[in-house]
Amino acid sequence: MTTTPHQTSREGLPPYRELSLYIDGTFISAQDRQTIDVLNPASSEVLGKLPVATTADLDHALASAERAFQSWRKSSPLDRSAILRRVATLARERAHDIARDLTRDQGKPLEEALSEILRCAEHAEWHAEECRRIYGRVIPPREPGIRQMVVREPVGVCAAFTPWNFPFNQAIRKISAAVGAGCAMVLKGPEDAPSAVVALAHLFHDAGLPPGVLNVVWGDPPTISAHLIASPVVRKVSFTGSVPVGKQLAAMAGTYMKRVSMELGGHSPVIVFDDADVAQAAQTLARFKLRNAGQVCIAPTRFYVHAKVYDRFVAQFTETMASVRVGDGLDPTTEMGPLAHGRRVEAMADFLDDARKLGGEVTFGGNRIGTDGFFFEPTVVAGLPDTARLMVEEPFGPVAPIVRFHATDDVIQRANSLPYGLAAYVFTNSLQTATTVADALEAGMVAINQFGISLAETPFGGVKDSGMGSEGGAETFDGYLVTKFITQR
Ligand code: NAD
Repeated sequence: MTTTPHQTSREGLPPYRELSLYIDGTFISAQDRQTIDVLNPASSEVLGKLPVATTADLDHALASAERAFQSWRKSSPLDRSAILRRVATLARERAHDIARDLTRDQGKPLEEALSEILRCAEHAEWHAEECRRIYGRVIPPREPGIRQMVVREPVGVCAAFTPWNFPFNQAIRKISAAVGAGCAMVLKGPEDAPSAVVALAHLFHDAGLPPGVLNVVWGDPPTISAHLIASPVVRKVSFTGSVPVGKQLAAMAGTYMKRVSMELGGHSPVIVFDDADVAQAAQTLARFKLRNAGQVCIAPTRFYVHAKVYDRFVAQFTETMASVRVGDGLDPTTEMGPLAHGRRVEAMADFLDDARKLGGEVTFGGNRIGTDGFFFEPTVVAGLPDTARLMVEEPFGPVAPIVRFHATDDVIQRANSLPYGLAAYVFTNSLQTATTVADALEAGMVAINQFGISLAETPFGGVKDSGMGSEGGAETFDGYLVTKFITQR
């Protein structure tokens, strides 16, 4: 067991980003507002103070979004496209600075943070391209002299809530979709890891987005979401986060008949068949599992391995997990950083308690590392019953349960048995097995023998309790547009 995570010197680092609200085109510092301490999860040190929006700030943000929407909705798609392209360019130029602060407040290794910024510049570009293709259609009339048109219009002011695991990624997708569609937005970012969202507000501001089209607020999540969703100004709610919170917000939005997009949690099954390249699957899955310390909604989280190759898979997977270097994300040799906050460390400990009680074999890890910061060991638990908490609740951390299966029908039934339906992974060298299983899995995204399911040009979203709507792909504007039918003689 590792007892001390690798720490790195923080001397000589540039100061952490100044945190602010962003309302009506103005960055607003705390002044006499309440603040929230932002911690470095690698050390628990206080990095900065995040201003909490007052009720007056929220109303100011709503009013400026409402005003800005009236002109932004009429803007040319070419102008929207140009702003989104500038955002992508600026994101690339500033990627290193944004990534450094993202690592400091969220914990992920610097290389992962940098890749998050660079990959997400593509989201802005994708929306810049697609927003020029928001087409309507003409429907042939039943009699001459009538013209029937379908037009797609921006839904209006959107309230968006984004989480702390991919602070830049989750926010830029929602902002780019709203901006490209001609909507305005009030966004509450993650209080645990806010720097990347403040950086994003600067990117859009500097790219020339008119004041009020984007507003960023911070504070107590339930207070802010209740205020924004109840406001008649808001016409759409977009949330990325946990299933229980998503259901609450969707129910609230339903009370006011507002549209929703929900990107919620998952518990992604991985099915490894006996004809797969077992060593390669085990190695790549272990590395993929530990990306962002497992705090990824599409992380592989339930490993079903064919009985014939189970022992080999567990041994190789454990060896790879054990080789991963855990430490401060700013250290270039770090491969897995701390968890983003203390709540996840407690959650991991609870999962492990339950697993041990049920006779799971912890083949590696299982413990918190040190007491500075929020580190937890890469952990493998073999041989749990399907009823164990780890097998039915999203772990959202660096813990991987592995169980056996014998028959394809049985493993499909087990994979589909949970209310989640986000991502699923299959490893097989049989085309027939790949097709059968991909068709049968109840998931919004299925990856076979690889992991490429979060690209700007591909739709990202879940089914069942994992949410509704897609971000990215050709579907990306669907949630931000309403359909109007015009018939004319
Ligand atoms: P949580 O459910 O309290 O919060 C999850 C996110 O929702 C946070 O960003 C939080 O600020 C926000 N939130 C919470 N209550 C809210 C409300 N009433 N209104 C608006 N926003 C609200 O849990 P947590 O401890 O922060 O995270 C743990 C769980 O969250 C994980 O188990 C995972 O399921 C889920 N999660 C999912 C994603 C994702 O990408 N789907 C991202 C982060 C967290």
